[in-house]
Amino acid sequence: AYCPGKRGIPAMQERDETEKAFAFLENDEYHVVVQTAPAVRVAIGEEFGLPPGEWEEGQLVAALRRLGFDAVFDTNFAADLTIMEEATEFVKRVVYAEKPLPMFTSCCPGWVKFAEYFYPELLSHLSSCKSPQQMLGAVAKTYYAKERGIDPSKIISIAVMPCTAKKFEAQRPEMKAAAEYWHNEEITADVDLVLTVRELARMLKAKNIDLLALPEEDYDPILGEDTGAARIFGVTGGVMEAAVRTAYYFLTGEDPPDTLLEFTPVRGLDDVKEASLNINGATINIAVVNGLANVRNVCEIVMDNPNKWHFIEVMACRGGCISGGGQPRTEVPPTDEIRLARIESLYTSDELSQIRLSYLNEEVRALYEKFLGEPNGELAEELLHTHYVDRGPVA
Ligand code: SF4
Repeated sequence: AYCPGKRGIPAMQERDETEKAFAFLENDEYHVVVQTAPAVRVAIGEEFGLPPGEWEEGQLVAALRRLGFDAVFDTNFAADLTIMEEATEFVKRVVYAEKPLPMFTSCCPGWVKFAEYFYPELLSHLSSCKSPQQMLGAVAKTYYAKERGIDPSKIISIAVMPCTAKKFEAQRPEMKAAAEYWHNEEITADVDLVLTVRELARMLKAKNIDLLALPEEDYDPILGEDTGAARIFGVTGGVMEAAVRTAYYFLTGEDPPDTLLEFTPVRGLDDVKEASLNINGATINIAVVNGLANVRNVCEIVMDNPNKWHFIEVMACRGGCISGGGQPRTEVPPTDEIRLARIESLYTSDELSQIRLSYLNEEVRALYEKFLGEPNGELAEELLHTHYVDRGPVA
């Protein structure tokens, strides 16, 4: 079976990069920012003896400040941004047929790399949106640098991820949008370093920072606000559920009904989940692929019958990022009981959120008003979208 993180850079996937992170933090020349993915906050507690699924967001932020980060940002902010871009792209594909349908999600680098190797003929079907990790890296070194008056070449951007494939993604040569924006070759990447949850836990333990003893703190503006829609990015079906909420608004001008706020057909651990929506009289057929082992069948169906679905989410890890290869290893691989505890925690957080729709994220709105313009606009395309590489055929 294909393992999303391994092909191409096996040594890097296993390498401990905590010393590199400490070196950045100890160098006063740098302004070091960090972002944390949705799935990190429901798993890091396990490294400190808590049961799976315990919500550790505020203490995670506090711990990162104790390590010396100059700003602590939320990848969830960029998940809302991704939804703005991806839902816009989807609507354009549906209404204007600008690019082919079905559209596949593109936020999982394990899936993207699989498609590049095994289904290059489907690459035009992948959304051109970068993942939230890469979007946040790009806006940290452009918008944030501008707003705060910081030399972008002195910003070091670190990501804490549940995922080993994210290390590969950050080093793709095309992930240098800030360097192109500033015409500055001193900026070598939008995300300089990716740490897994286990690596972060090792750093905290090395500095005797007890996560559980810390007070809860908030993420930093202007890249720190999130919505419930962003929180469920860490769950299989969550990206689809979040995208559908905003696509509904874009197509109708109205907030989605309650059935789309608890979109149960795409939830759970089934291998492939399907659903149909009726929006303004049009039927939208969607599918969610839970785990890379199930994606070949779906790709073959798409090749035979491209009209079966309009929108397909693929996450390489069973259960989504909550069981990524960089998560705590209480059990290897994680049991479904562990997966479901982490999943439940993210859904509960969404339900308890005051704002559950990405287009209502005030900081994301400010980003468009002050800097980007409109979703899928010229600057948004330059900073937040990418292209893919035909890496096939595979021997
Ligand atoms: Fe990484 Fe797995 Fe999430 Fe894909 S599903 S982004 S491989 S953790």
